[in-house]
Amino acid sequence: MRQANLLVGKTLAEIARVIKPGVTTNEIDKLADTFIRDNGAIPTFKGVPSPYGDSFPASVCCSVNEQVVHGIPSDVPLKDGDIVSVDCGTLLNGFNGDSCYTFCVGEVSDDVKTLLKTTKESLYLGIESALPGRRIGDIGYAIQKHCEGNGYGVVRELVGHGIGREMHEDPMVPNYGKRGNGILIQNGLCIAIEPMITMGKRDVYLDEDGWSVVTRDSLPAAHFEHTIAIHNGGPDILSSFEEIECVEGSLY
Ligand code: MG
Ligand code: MG
Repeated sequence: MRQANLLVGKTLAEIARVIKPGVTTNEIDKLADTFIRDNGAIPTFKGVPSPYGDSFPASVCCSVNEQVVHGIPSDVPLKDGDIVSVDCGTLLNGFNGDSCYTFCVGEVSDDVKTLLKTTKESLYLGIESALPGRRIGDIGYAIQKHCEGNGYGVVRELVGHGIGREMHEDPMVPNYGKRGNGILIQNGLCIAIEPMITMGKRDVYLDEDGWSVVTRDSLPAAHFEHTIAIHNGGPDILSSFEEIECVEGSLY
């Protein structure tokens, strides 16, 4: 699982290298698809069936600004000041990787940078709460407390998940919750924690494209995701932002 997840991190780092105003999300998708396949893996998002009809047409989800998740890559060039959340999944040697990072395009406003920083912080607070003997609700509680405490919205309609041989397994891992609620966290559990946090209200709707989840107030949203394994008494982050952050430098 670590191999599949490190490949996701490397794919996102490749994307970090090319993101700038003028680049299209279709170009990002093509780069990701080629990189994943060249490394002997399969991009798992491609062809995922939708309950509403078409299967997902691309290898990564690219959600721009008010799109929260599941944005379909397009030929629309990214603009200076945009943010884009690139969610990537790979299947390598029978195991799944899943991680997402929200990138800045050119110069982004301080308000939006703070949203990204807070969302990323909440991801790590969630991870720190994923200790054996605690419960799934403890993870959501930590994320919710940090994000709502900073005035942001926590999307309820989409949640993190178990992961392993399948991309989505039990249990669900909400980004909100009560301490001490939900299933027991134990050694051996592998989960993807993925706060989806809005600058304004937390209400979202499904776009008519059948995939993109968009904020109702059209304010931007951020999405950071790691896959972790609970073992040896604590959380082990299997995916990695290290290379992405090297490329980005000290943005914040
Ligand atoms: Mg994901
Ligand atoms: Mg996920």
